[in-house]
Amino acid sequence: MSNAARLHLALERISSLFRSELRASAVAHDLKLVQLEALIYFANANRYSDTASALTEYLGLTKGTTSQTIQALERRGLLEKHADEHDGRVSHCKPTAAGAAIVDEAFPMKWAPTSGADLAGAEEAAVQLLARLQAARGQRSFGQCSTCQLFERNGSRFRCGLTGEPLTKRDSLAICREHAA
Ligand code: SF4
Repeated sequence: MSNAARLHLALERISSLFRSELRASAVAHDLKLVQLEALIYFANANRYSDTASALTEYLGLTKGTTSQTIQALERRGLLEKHADEHDGRVSHCKPTAAGAAIVDEAFPMKWAPTSGADLAGAEEAAVQLLARLQAARGQRSFGQCSTCQLFERNGSRFRCGLTGEPLTKRDSLAICREHAA
């Protein structure tokens, strides 16, 4: 079997294991898998990316599914929407305290007995592989802000080179729709 074939099978098994664990977490909270995935996304997205359209793109959903998912989470009191300060047509979605508690339980997946060193190596390889696959398909990377080509650091101060706006430490750890890999 070639390296490419072994990699294919390994990624397929990891993906299956991952979704199975996530589905079990969703069921435990009486949520659909997509609803839990949306909560996890919004808990990790920065202020340029915590919108319905970004979620649609990130999860590869239809607009209808995105809208139903967000409405269901709002009805459950797990997600709340805030109008954008500058553009009333845009709403930002944030998990409520109850939604954030569910995310904390479900994400990230518990990796024991894998060691921290194993995880660091695996994370770097996975992020690089994902970046190449996304670039080859012309997809957005949705990467972590601090790894963006437009991320500017001046001592302990951070700034977005795209918008010119200051970024907090928390912003620097969030994922962004505009991330330049
Ligand atoms: S620096 Fe890049 S990832 Fe960070 S907010 Fe700006 S565009 Fe997004």
